[in-house]
Amino acid sequence: MGQLPRARLPRARRNAFTPAFFKPLVSHLGYRASGSKNVVIKSAPGVRQARIVRMNKLGMDASLVVPLHAGGNDFGDWLHGDFSALTEPGTYRAAIAFQLFSGMAQATHSGSQSSQNAQQTSLDAWSRGIVEAWSQDFVVSEKPWDDTMRKMMGYYQAQRCGASPHGYNTPCHTGPIARSDGRAAKPITGGWHSADDHVRDVPEILHGMFGLLQLAETRPDLAAELNAFDELRWGNDYFLSLQDPRGYIYFGVFTKDYYGTANSWDTSYFELRMQPHLARLYRTLEPQYAAKCLAAAQRCFAYWEGERGGDWASSKYVYELGTACYAAAQLYRCTGSAEYRGHARTLAEQLMALQNPDGFWPERAAGDLDPRRDYNLLIARGVYQAYAPLGLSAVAEAMPTDAAAPRWRASLERFADGFAAFFATANAFGMLPYYIFRDAATPQVRTRGGKSYRYFLDPSHTAIDIPGSSTIPWQTGNQSTTAGFGVALCAIGRLLGQDAPRHLAQRQLDWILGLNPFDSCQILGLGRNNPVTYPPLDFMPPVPAIVGAGLQGACGDDADEPQMVGGYYGSGEYWLPPHSWILGLMATLSA
Ligand SMILES: [Zn+2]
Repeated sequence: MGQLPRARLPRARRNAFTPAFFKPLVSHLGYRASGSKNVVIKSAPGVRQARIVRMNKLGMDASLVVPLHAGGNDFGDWLHGDFSALTEPGTYRAAIAFQLFSGMAQATHSGSQSSQNAQQTSLDAWSRGIVEAWSQDFVVSEKPWDDTMRKMMGYYQAQRCGASPHGYNTPCHTGPIARSDGRAAKPITGGWHSADDHVRDVPEILHGMFGLLQLAETRPDLAAELNAFDELRWGNDYFLSLQDPRGYIYFGVFTKDYYGTANSWDTSYFELRMQPHLARLYRTLEPQYAAKCLAAAQRCFAYWEGERGGDWASSKYVYELGTACYAAAQLYRCTGSAEYRGHARTLAEQLMALQNPDGFWPERAAGDLDPRRDYNLLIARGVYQAYAPLGLSAVAEAMPTDAAAPRWRASLERFADGFAAFFATANAFGMLPYYIFRDAATPQVRTRGGKSYRYFLDPSHTAIDIPGSSTIPWQTGNQSTTAGFGVALCAIGRLLGQDAPRHLAQRQLDWILGLNPFDSCQILGLGRNNPVTYPPLDFMPPVPAIVGAGLQGACGDDADEPQMVGGYYGSGEYWLPPHSWILGLMATLSA
C-alpha cells in the first residue's frame, strides 16, 4: 500500500479502524503489601491517571489516584504508574477513565446535589463520553505468591524421572542407559525431565536446582513445609551419579537414552556452583549429605582450575567466570579456606575486567561470539545472563571486609545504576534486555542511547552440536533472563542497602505474572491468557499440562518485538530453566 499516492486511497482505507486497548495491566498473581506495585496502560489521549480501589463484599472503598507517566517507547507507547504507597492488604482493581465517544449534546441530569454519589459521578462522566475500563481483581498481601510456589514445587515432583511415586509417568527410564562411547550401559535414575520431551541433559536440568536452593535460602519456612530438601536430593543424586573420578560432569541423558560425554562448561561449572550452595544450606540439618556435596564440589573445582580455557576459546568467558565466582564464594563460606578466598578474589577481578563502562557484561573483551553454531552458547545466552552480577554479588556478600570489596560493590552499582536503570525507562514495563551487542554489524537489533540491544533471542539462530540429535533450530522466550536479572537485582539491592534494584526486580516478576503487552501470565494454569502449550512430538500420550509450570515466554521477531506464540515451543512449552529462575525470584522477593 505504501506505493499508492496517498490522495488516491479510498476513504475507508484512510480511516481504517485501529482497535484501542485500554485495559489496565497488573500482575495477575498480586503484589506484596510491603513491596513495590506497578500498573501499565496503553497510552491514550487525555489519560493521565489510574485509580486503584479496594473491593468489598458489597461495593468498594475510596480509591487511590495514581499518576501515569510515559514509560519509554520500546514496545510502543505505554504509561506506567507506581502504587507502592498502597500497603493495606485486600483485593483490588485498577481503573482508567478515557474518552470513548463525544458525549451528549445536553446533560441528562442536574447532578449538583448528588455529586458525591458514585453512580451519579459515573453518569456525569458518561454524559461527557467518558467511560472507565477495569482490570481484573488482584491481591495485595504479605505472602501473595506462597500458593504459587507450592504449585511450582509440584512441577518438580511431576517431572521426576525414575521410580518416584510423584512422576506423571512413573516409573520411567529405570533401565540401563546406553553410552555414546560404547562403554557399559548403566542405570542413571533421578533428576527431572526438563520440559515435555523426557530430556534430562545436565545443562538444562541442573539449573532446576537453583530455584530450590533460592527457596531454601530465602524462605526456609516454606522450604520446610514443602520438604525442599527431599526434592533437592532427588535431583542432586542424579548429578552426583554423573561425576567421574576427576570431578568432571557428563552431559547427561538426552532424548533416546543417550549418555553423552561431550565436554561442556555449563555442566561442570554449574555442578560446581550448586553443590557448595547445597552443602552450606544443609550442613546442620543433613551433615552427611552436605559433606558428600562439598567433596564433589571440591573435586569439580580442582578439575576446572586445571583447564586453561572454557568451551569457546582459550580464555574463560563471562558465563564461566560468573558461575565460578559464585562457586568460589560458596566454597569459601563452607570451608573458610584461604585457598578459595584467593580463587574468589582472582575470579572477581577477571569478571570485573570484562564489564562495560555502562555496567553490562558482554561475553568477552573482544567482539561478540557467534551464536549460530553452538547450542551451549545459545542456552547460556538465553538462560545464564544473570550469572555475572550474581556471581560478583556472591563474592561481595561472602567477603564484605576484603580490601577489594568496595570495588566489587562499585562494579555492581554500575550494573544497577547504568545498565538496569537505563532500560528501566526504555520500555514502560521496566523489562531488561538479554544482550547489548558490541559488533556494529549485528543485524536485527534495536538502538537507543548509543546501545545496540535485543530483549529477545535472535530469531534466526540455528543450533547444532546437540549430542545424538540432528541440526535443529532453537529459540526460547525471555523469561529466564528476565527472572534471572531480577534475582541479581535483589542481591545487589541487599548488598548496597538500596531499594531501587529490588523495585526493578519486582517489575521483572510483574512482566512474567501477566503485566506484559499480552496480559498473559507465564505460569501454566495460573493467572490468565496462558499461551497454548506446545505438544510433544515424540510420543503419545503426551505429557499432561502441569499446573504451576513456568513457561518460556515471548519470543522476538526480526524487529525484536515480542511475539507470544501459542503452540510453539519457544513460548508455549514449559521448561525447567525459566521455571527455576521464576521460583527463585518469587522466593527472594517474598523474603
Ligand atoms: Zn524419565
